[in-house]
Amino acid sequence: MDINDILFRTGENRDQWYQSIAPPVYQTSNFRFPGISAMREIIADEFSHHAYTRGNNPTVEVLRSKLAALEHTEQSLVFSSGAAAIAAALLSVLGSGDHLVCVARPYGWTQKLIARWLTRFGVRHDFADLRDAGTLERYLQPDTKAVYLESPNSITFEMQDLEAISAICRARGITTLIDNSYASPIYCNPADHGIDLVIHSATKYLNGHSDVVAGVVCGSEARIRRIFDQEYMILGAVISPYEAALILRGLRTLPLRMERSDQTARLLAARLEDHPAVRQVIHPGLPSFPQYALAQRQLRGTGGLFSICLDTDDPAVCEAFADKLNRFAMAASWGGYESLVMPMCAFHTPGSQPGPSAYPVNLVRIYAGLEDADWLWEDLEQALSVIPVQSTR
Ligand SMILES: *Cc1c(COP(=O)(O)O)cnc(C)c1O
Repeated sequence: MDINDILFRTGENRDQWYQSIAPPVYQTSNFRFPGISAMREIIADEFSHHAYTRGNNPTVEVLRSKLAALEHTEQSLVFSSGAAAIAAALLSVLGSGDHLVCVARPYGWTQKLIARWLTRFGVRHDFADLRDAGTLERYLQPDTKAVYLESPNSITFEMQDLEAISAICRARGITTLIDNSYASPIYCNPADHGIDLVIHSATKYLNGHSDVVAGVVCGSEARIRRIFDQEYMILGAVISPYEAALILRGLRTLPLRMERSDQTARLLAARLEDHPAVRQVIHPGLPSFPQYALAQRQLRGTGGLFSICLDTDDPAVCEAFADKLNRFAMAASWGGYESLVMPMCAFHTPGSQPGPSAYPVNLVRIYAGLEDADWLWEDLEQALSVIPVQSTR
């Protein structure tokens, strides 16, 4: 379906809404049953009817139909956070005793869900470097039920070949899941490469205005119905109609915002790569990116996220750089209108050895928002001036 149809028409039943252009916010918890026989029919299949807003709500359904269409899947469910969406999707395919392969260095709370929480229920796991798809075979066990991907991840951007991995998994009946938050549906549709469940933190690009926390799982009707009947209704981490309406508003400009952030990030990354105070730029759209060929094949664009390594190993200099920025806000998250930095030196404690999973102290994750690129560059340039340029370069 054409993206214009999806963004401006899909799911919008204006005939039922007094022809209102913006979808109404059905701020209601429950729905009246017109009579006993209707009630009997509705409660037997809440997935297809309106009974209670923890299940279906018309405003949330408009959003669900757009998100499913954007990801080229049959159905979707929207959750109260990306973390809730990830947990529900994984729980829907795993049981006690099952084994899961997860890509190395996934989103932090995904890592904790798998390593700290699912283990309490007997779910075993391996974290695997899957930059080479063939590596996956070495991790698969007879009771491996799921392979969880993030391509690229949101800090160092390692990618996986989705086509190759889904082929391996499909042949063995293993469910594939991916966190597609980095690319958004604008730049990658993993379902087209055979991935079964596609997850987003809608907090990031999909809403895009830094005022809602939400998540989405997209997949086939059968898989999504299964999640609806179990994790969605049982755990109840659903989104409110009002927040669904905010995300609908955000979606109207999704392609525009992606394009703007993409262009700005590319420009900043290219300039940073030439700057003597920057040792390395990690950006999947740069020819220097180790998996550049795969990125070119699998991503239609790269959006606003990338990382740099400052040309220093001195934590104090890294801190001085971060503190000197003032147009970039120092903050977690990304995908909104505002440009951000996440300096990894903040995760290092002065005087103590960094843990094995710590990112390098000089790594700074940058998110380019919607501001003017030159205005942002001025800020980076003045902050980089705190780094003594090494004469050997
Ligand atoms: C933010 C984020 C999440 C978690 O989403 P929330 O909406 O914060 O729960 C998951 N994956 C990635 C890659 C993220 O950046």
